[in-house]
Amino acid sequence: MLGRRRMLRQALRGAGNAPAQQKLHEAQRLMAEGQFVEAAAMFDELGQQAVQHGMIRPAINLALQAGRACAQAGRGDDALAHARRALDLILNAGQPARATRAIPRAAAFLRAQGFTAQAAALEKEAAQRLALLGLSLQALPNVGTRSLPSTCPQCAGPLRSDDADWIDAVSAECPWCGSTVKTV
Ligand SMILES: [Zn+2]
Repeated sequence: MLGRRRMLRQALRGAGNAPAQQKLHEAQRLMAEGQFVEAAAMFDELGQQAVQHGMIRPAINLALQAGRACAQAGRGDDALAHARRALDLILNAGQPARATRAIPRAAAFLRAQGFTAQAAALEKEAAQRLALLGLSLQALPNVGTRSLPSTCPQCAGPLRSDDADWIDAVSAECPWCGSTVKTV
């Protein structure tokens, strides 16, 4: 089995004009600069590439990021569509426990951007699909002031404490490789 760092590199290596890792950095830069439509398109493209390479964890994260970018661009329905695709990927990958955390975060983000109806639709669909598996959506953990390292110790993917998949107050799941990252 390949190491996680190598797997991530493979996942991010695209067939387009620029290496996918470079595109990911570009998409993150566009987000930081408020170019949300362009960022969303780039996250979406990277996500499709990740799916084609069978790299489901990065694909899930990229779909969630595309959704956030759309929400910030004022495109609530597109944001919902990306979040639904992330939900599909999570459930198809047999990782429903991840959805119990990721979907409430995505819904909270939609709500924060004013997309109340889309947030409710996402929560309803996720709750119904998770109920079939005996699971329910979790309340968002109280993150407090703890910080994650800026990059994942396992795969070197960028992490953000204010945008992390928190498991509890001192640990979060790396969105890129799925390992548990402790606060510093
Ligand atoms: Zn990682």
